[in-house]
Amino acid sequence: MKIRLFYILVLLGFGLYAQQPTLDYYLPKNITYNPAIPTPKEVIGHEVGEWHVTHDKLLFYMQALAKASNRITIENRGTTFEGRPLVLLTVTAPDNHAKLEEIRTNHLQLTQSNGNTLNTAEMPAVVYQGFSIHGNEASGSNAALAYAYYLAAAQGSEIEEKLDNLVILLDPSFNPDGLQRFAYWANIHKSQNLNPDPNEREYHEVWPGGRTNHYWFDMNRDWLPVQLPESRARIATFHKWMPNILTDHHEMGSNSTFFFQPGEPTRVHPLTPKINQELTKEIGTYHAKALDKIGSLYYSEENYDDYYYGKGSTFPDVNGSIGILFEQGSSRGHIQESENGILTFPFTVRNQFTTALSTIEAANSMRSKLLDYQRTFYKNMATNASKDKVKGYIFGDEKDPAKAWHLAEILERQQIRFHELKNDTKVGSKNYKKGSAYIVPTNQRNPRLIKAMFEKRTTFTDSLFYDISAWTFPLAFNLDYQELSSITTAGSPIEKLEPITGKITGSSNYAYLMPWNPYYAPKALNTISQAGLRAKVAKSPFTLEGNRYDYGTIMIPVQNQKLEKDELYTLLKEVAEDNSLIITAVGTGSTLGIDLGSNEFDPIKKQRVAMLVGNGISPYDAGEIWHLFDTRYDMHITKIDTDYLNRVDLSRYTDLIIPSGWGSNMLDQQAATKIKEWVKDGGTVIGFRNVASWFKNNDFLNLTMLKDTTLKATNIPFDKRRDFRGAQVTGGAIFEAKLDLSHPIAYGYKNDKISMFRNTNIYLKAEENSYENPIQYTSNPLQSGYISEENEALIKNSVPFKAKRLGSGKVILFTDNTNFRAFWYGTNKLMMNAIFFGDSM
Ligand SMILES: [Zn+2]
Repeated sequence: MKIRLFYILVLLGFGLYAQQPTLDYYLPKNITYNPAIPTPKEVIGHEVGEWHVTHDKLLFYMQALAKASNRITIENRGTTFEGRPLVLLTVTAPDNHAKLEEIRTNHLQLTQSNGNTLNTAEMPAVVYQGFSIHGNEASGSNAALAYAYYLAAAQGSEIEEKLDNLVILLDPSFNPDGLQRFAYWANIHKSQNLNPDPNEREYHEVWPGGRTNHYWFDMNRDWLPVQLPESRARIATFHKWMPNILTDHHEMGSNSTFFFQPGEPTRVHPLTPKINQELTKEIGTYHAKALDKIGSLYYSEENYDDYYYGKGSTFPDVNGSIGILFEQGSSRGHIQESENGILTFPFTVRNQFTTALSTIEAANSMRSKLLDYQRTFYKNMATNASKDKVKGYIFGDEKDPAKAWHLAEILERQQIRFHELKNDTKVGSKNYKKGSAYIVPTNQRNPRLIKAMFEKRTTFTDSLFYDISAWTFPLAFNLDYQELSSITTAGSPIEKLEPITGKITGSSNYAYLMPWNPYYAPKALNTISQAGLRAKVAKSPFTLEGNRYDYGTIMIPVQNQKLEKDELYTLLKEVAEDNSLIITAVGTGSTLGIDLGSNEFDPIKKQRVAMLVGNGISPYDAGEIWHLFDTRYDMHITKIDTDYLNRVDLSRYTDLIIPSGWGSNMLDQQAATKIKEWVKDGGTVIGFRNVASWFKNNDFLNLTMLKDTTLKATNIPFDKRRDFRGAQVTGGAIFEAKLDLSHPIAYGYKNDKISMFRNTNIYLKAEENSYENPIQYTSNPLQSGYISEENEALIKNSVPFKAKRLGSGKVILFTDNTNFRAFWYGTNKLMMNAIFFGDSM
């Protein structure tokens, strides 16, 4: 009866939709439900789909279920940046709960060499179901309310069989901070009479929206690099359980229906076995049947790919599991007009609920097959790895232990075994030092995952990519690295990474020296200059007391400082220890090379940095910079919205960062004039990627942009025109550039080659004077990833960086992203060099 009422109200004439969804609308029919289990409404005060659930209410409900049901336990695996708990429900039969640890350890043996004797016919399969990693794709987390209720309360043999045969890991919100932000937005605009007009403000979130987490990261790109707290919880759960299926519930455009994987058959990563896609397809038949039953339109094998292992539905595929992407056409708020008629929020929630259920239906029916696939996956790898010529990888940086440590940290999070060095060693032309280098043997549980992280790939079966086409980690970190044909140089395996230590060598009456190579040197320098101390940067190398110091060494004199000699020592000792680096006390200013009193040392100003955010600016790019300053370097960065930029007194700031944005029209004329006047008075403006065209149009920089004129569509039919254009997109690949180590932009780098990440097609012509091209792409720059032939011709010998004087200030441009997704540690220093040494350029 209630169900019928729902439909009647939705179908009432255009404009008035006073619908009241009820729980019955979502649940399978003809089943009884345990009355001792509270419904969502009894706990959170509203029906599923009536309002957008806030994360706190979602949490209360899941806690209430765990309390009421002996099928469910709940655990907290950490917190988001905003302090929200990252909970996980474990759902299975009470008998299984009683021996859960035994089930888990048996299950893990399938991925190890001792799994051969296990009888998979008697083992439960493990399903990890996660919802709304994009916070404003909320139908997933809202469906999790009804789904968790069903799992706790449904009675009868059908559910009991599933609970006997499965361990379900239910993650109701992959992105609590984003979900909370979006729920607030959708709920504050809801009218009593639901308004489906797409122009309604409810469907137009303000910048930055609820898709991302606190620092505006797309967390569905972080499953491989694991840089964010939410990802750390997910990846820990993944490795703890090695699920057979992992599902990832999303939303897409409002005019779309419902998508489930497999995606485009030609766009699967070559390290993913064929049988993975066959199993994905077989699982898909269960979704199709379930959606047919409720009359929902859907599609499969189109649009979405299965390429980048940093995505939730692809990461499992390189781990012997099956990742499944779901995409539901979004109502954004509570109801919206669409090409498929009126799209209600409850309708979208019901599709997510239905496919959550068809997932466990498939897992139950295909249980042995999935478990056997997992076992075979690991067995075959072990056989193949023993035949592989590559026995391991060595990586490190003798001058920057912290950067190498952070790559090791990713390996640790992915449960990849790595070793310290037995002794310092030289491989090829590079030195690797014990303590700042590591060896990863391929002879271990998952060599395929290691390959996915370390390999360079430049040939592809398809030219279209949903996301980046390369992520080779040692290049992202700009570390020295090498494939090894034997690992005799490996010392003991590292069970737990200990933090890198720093120290000061002693107390000085004269001066202290701090090399600029270590990853945390910018943080150290910021602490020193914020304390009001004078520091200078060396523009040439020199040798003092037997040590060689590179370009960019920081010198802190003892005399004439705000702090007394002993206080200075105490502060610098703390700085060295906090930043995992070495500060050397020296007794003389007389060197081989520039003396410490030389004019070849430039003074360093205390930096006050601002960054534009808001309309016109990419939240991803801005968030990466905010995160870098705030969480890695402990530096203030003032976020100024483009909305009120014209009212701000910029003279408070030494640097203004403009992250990538809409391009030539991203800021108005008044803003251009204001920023230019400020630069002429001595400010440093630093623009990224699309800001190039804005700089050019507003005469900040005189740029020649290289364009391809050869590309013509010949023999391309109408229905292939999108693929033709798509093949010209540089979605994310890695390129090699030459570095002029004497230029301040290159301070702190020890090699004269650098790997740059780029996801634009902006190609800048080099300057005629070689010294004005401190970073220049080589004549054969592609290191890893996809670029079209036409664009590859343009990038050769072009430049990704410009620095020019304007009045008394500086205009600095990077066409590439130096801070990509928090894991591109290798180019972070380029941006910090622009901040600290812009005046010397
Ligand atoms: Zn999504």
